[in-house]
Order: sequence, then structure tokens, then C-alpha cells
Amino acid sequence: MRERVRHVKPSATLRISAIAKELIKKGKPVIDMSVGEPDFLTPKHIIDSAIRAMKEGKVFYTPTRGIPELLDAIAEKVRRENGIDASSKNVIVTPGAKFAIFLAMMSILDEGDEVILLDPAWVSYEPCVIMAGAKPVWVRHSDGFRDAPVEDYITNKTKMIVINTPNNPLGVVYSKDFLKKIRDLALDHDIYVLSDEIYEKIIFEGEHISIASFDGMFERTITVNGFSKTYAMTGWRLGYAIADEEIIKNMNKIQSHSVSHPTSFVQYAGLCALKGNQDFIKEMVEEFRKRRDMIVEKLDELGIEYAPPMGAFYIFMNVKSSEFADEFLRKELVAVTPGEAFGSYKDWVRISYATSRENIKEFLIRLERFLGHTQWG
Ligand code: PMP
Repeated sequence: MRERVRHVKPSATLRISAIAKELIKKGKPVIDMSVGEPDFLTPKHIIDSAIRAMKEGKVFYTPTRGIPELLDAIAEKVRRENGIDASSKNVIVTPGAKFAIFLAMMSILDEGDEVILLDPAWVSYEPCVIMAGAKPVWVRHSDGFRDAPVEDYITNKTKMIVINTPNNPLGVVYSKDFLKKIRDLALDHDIYVLSDEIYEKIIFEGEHISIASFDGMFERTITVNGFSKTYAMTGWRLGYAIADEEIIKNMNKIQSHSVSHPTSFVQYAGLCALKGNQDFIKEMVEEFRKRRDMIVEKLDELGIEYAPPMGAFYIFMNVKSSEFADEFLRKELVAVTPGEAFGSYKDWVRISYATSRENIKEFLIRLERFLGHTQWG
């Protein structure tokens, strides 16, 4: 096995989902609070547009960077909504945001470069850094997960800082002040910023700010976004990146020689998603907000500490034990994601509320019962 692949750890989420699957197979009523995708169906007009595209014969290779109409629509979207001064030359569409992150790292990072990741962080950043031959440098969040002492970890090898707002697993939306601090560090030390903004529309408190809209940041920021969360399109595999034209060209070199491009008719569906009715998003976010409020009320009652759940559909909570996820699943048949999946917060877990209110109610009953029966606290 190639050395750098050996260093990629298997995901801690796999262990829990394997046990959960086994229990479900035995007919046990497992409640899954570990899902990372909206539990809504893709809006019908988007599905129809993909069918229409297929019927119209949009079934051939497309330009590797994506169909021009979609590149234009994305550039227009980020200019209008994110204040990012992009033209279609600054856009690449990819099979999922995850592949955009992979391409960005593979095309920018060199052997020995250091990449700052904010702990806890989404599971795939570290493997992408390692596969690119670079070194992850973990920095723990501070100030109730709203800040991080990034300045203390910058060396002359630091090539990139990865930020994610709204954040998975925290649910935190970064403040303008924190993003300005990251900007100042990036400008002072000549560092790239990879800004993962995939949850940008799922916000209950705070404001989404794209760091690429700050003065001097466009040239050094790779903004990653996609359709998975905003339009409930996880299985379609459609994402994109916005960056300096040179960076996009290099990312496209790798894309063109690997996957070629995202599926032709899926790109037309993406175009329809951006241009069509957006009401679905508001309804979905309102539903997420209600579910979040249900959970937070109970966590407060139980005196459980958690990161400020301002966006996305996750709550990161302190369960004071690294055994919690395994035991909660075995004893109460609830699957949650152990904190170790995201970095050093082993005594915390992430719960996802991308599941029905009915399931959430049952989860809260089981949580209260479980905590009552353990020496927790
Ligand atoms: N970034 C974050 C923070 C995510 O949570 C996810 C999906 N779990 C992705 C990127 C990848 O999304 P996509 O489905 O577009 O690859």
C-alpha cells in the first residue's frame, strides 16, 4: 500500500454505522441521529429538469470544467449573494463538494506543506491533506468554539488554512471578527484559505460571510460549495469551487484526467436548482430550526454542554465519555457520531437532526433514560 494511504485512518463513523446496521438487521428499532444529509426529497422541479435534459439528449461528454450555462449561473450567484468578484473563468463544477476539496488540495499542496485544520473538523479534510502529501496541523477551537488560536500554529511551511462555516460538526457560524483574523493571517503570511461553505443556506443565527469577499482574499481563497445540502441533492454528486483562474485551471487538469466532469444531466439539474424557485430552502430551514429548538430545550433541562447550534443540522455535545456512542447504541439503540471522528474531542458526540421530529422525540426520551441510568455527570 502506498505510504500516504497507510496514514489515512478509517472513519470512526464506520464502526458505529456497522453496529447500527447489524442491529437493524436483527429488527431492532434503531434511531439514527448520525446522518449527514437532509431527510428531504430533492424538489420536483429539479428532478423534472434532469429527466427533461436526458430526454433532450444531454447525455454526452461536457466541457471538463462544466457546462458554460452552469458556470455563468454560479459566477452570477456568488457575485450576487456572496460578494465574490468572480466570472465564469473562476468556476469549476465537480462531482460533489468533496471532490472540489480534494482537487484544491491536490493542485495546491506540495510535499511537506502544512495545512491548518480547526479541531473538531469535518472528517474528510485530514485524509485529503494526507493524500496530497502535506501535513495536517490541528488547532483546537477556543472561546466556546467561536475562535481558534491559529496565529500560534503558523510556520514558514503553512500553506493553507481550512475553514468551514456554518460548521460541521459544530453547527457554529463564524463571526466577521474571526474571519477577519483569518484574513489578516493569510495576507501577512501568504497562505491560502479553503473556505467550505456547503451549509451556507442553513442558518438560524448569525450571518453567512464568504471570506473571499474581503479585500485581498479573492486571489488566495478557494470557496467550496455545492448542491447536496441546500437543494437536498446528496446522491446527485454536484459541487463547485470558486478561485483564481490559475488555481481553477490546475484543478481542472486533475478533474479532466480523472472523472472528466460531473454527469451531464446532473449539471442541467444544478442549473435549474440555481435559477428555479427557492422557497423549498426556507421551508427546510424552518423545519430544521424547530427540530434544533426541541433538542436544545431538552439538553438545557438535562444540563448538557453543547457548541452554539447556529446553523447546519448538527449539535456537538459534551457527553464526558469516549464510550458514550458505543454504549448509547447498544443500550438505547440510538446511533450518534463519536467525537473522535472529528479530531481530539473524544468525550463529545455529534448528533444530526436531519431526521423526523417523531424520531427526535424518541431520541430525547432515550437520552434522558440513558443518562438517568449511567453515572453520567
Ligand atoms: N463539506 C462538509 C462540511 C460536509 O459536511 C459535506 C457533506 N457531508 C461535504 C463538504 C461534502 O458534500 P458533497 O456531498 O457535495 O460532496
